[in-house]
Amino acid sequence: MALGKDYATQECSIAGALEIVGERWTLLVVRDALYGVRRYNDFLVHLGIPRAVLASRLQALTAEGILEKRRYQESPPRDEYVVTDRGIALWPTLRSLGRWGREHLGEARLRYFRHATCGTELGPYGECATCGTVVPVPDVEMVPGPGLDPDPADPVSRALLKPRRLLEPIDTRHA
Ligand SMILES: [Zn+2]
Repeated sequence: MALGKDYATQECSIAGALEIVGERWTLLVVRDALYGVRRYNDFLVHLGIPRAVLASRLQALTAEGILEKRRYQESPPRDEYVVTDRGIALWPTLRSLGRWGREHLGEARLRYFRHATCGTELGPYGECATCGTVVPVPDVEMVPGPGLDPDPADPVSRALLKPRRLLEPIDTRHA
């Protein structure tokens, strides 16, 4: 029997979510959007993804309300993609996947996450042990880890060499 293209026989909310974010590259586009990437070319250089695939993923994520397209320049017309609350709600999933990759695949630790206001590294569930709270996404600061290339070629990776809060827009024009 041929492998179907969807999970129609699965009455499961995981299957429903995977219908939207289960394609190759999709969650990495969302990850970059949470890191503050907004512009097509920045996604392109940071992900090293074929143009057609990126265009298709951005379109699908916009259609699903995970990204929102916003015009930032009129002539020539240019749009950027801003992650919505629906997309921000994927953050715990991405954080857990990263943790799983490190623990079970031995992936290098490229960055870690801390509570911006007190500096405490987040626990496994995104909590701050010092403040006794789950840290809201805008208050999460990402910090370069030892596995990160200290001299990357693309401007997005260069911008991510300094500690910065999630969602803070990355401006690569001066990077
Ligand atoms: Zn804290």
